[in-house]
Amino acid sequence: MSARRFILLGPPGAGKGTQSQRLVADLGIPQISTGDLLRAARKAGTSLGQKAQSFMDAGQLVPDALIFELVEERLAQPDAAAGYILDGFPRNVTQADEMVGRRIAVERVVLLDVPTDALVARLSGRRVCGQCGATYHADTFPTRLEGVCDACGGAVAQRKDDRAEVVAQRLEVYAKETSPLIAYYASAGTLRRVDGFESADTVYASILTALSA
Ligand code: AMP
Repeated sequence: MSARRFILLGPPGAGKGTQSQRLVADLGIPQISTGDLLRAARKAGTSLGQKAQSFMDAGQLVPDALIFELVEERLAQPDAAAGYILDGFPRNVTQADEMVGRRIAVERVVLLDVPTDALVARLSGRRVCGQCGATYHADTFPTRLEGVCDACGGAVAQRKDDRAEVVAQRLEVYAKETSPLIAYYASAGTLRRVDGFESADTVYASILTALSA
């Protein structure tokens, strides 16, 4: 039986979002991306979104209390009853501990392992559709028409925090605050490692194996 409540863990640019889109379609469970939820809150101009703004633009973590507010609200939606893919959450050991206290269940943690050099290239070239969320890469996977989404015709742009100086900061935050989760979940026995530097199809197949193994 495959895990249906799991975390995709890995540095920014590891491919968590891309792989999640396919998992959502095949497994019929939602992706819960705290980064996406925060960006939606900002776009909607909520007070939570406003509070999160300065942290996000600086590549820092948003305070845990705001994150739990968003996650609990999302998990209460009916579609999360059958399972969920947690993407970008938890982001530090405090959040992981607090999840246990709040009974947010996780059966498996899949780590997407990608070398740091590759992350910088992936993130700084990443372009995202503001309308449907499709992702592109300026060099390796450009839109057919500059700045226009192939899928929905929306405007495609660089995320503010994908600029080089913020990318370096986010990778540092990952190393310091998020990567301790690897040992945390390894000792809990739930961690599986996947080589995220392979082709998207190979990575996907490895994730499915990791969810059932
Ligand atoms: P992401 O889209 O996952 O790269 O997240 C973008 C930004 O949102 C991060 O750089 C953080 O500022 C913030 N963020 C996303 N998820 C979390 C989280 N679980 N805890 C704290 N901050 C987060």
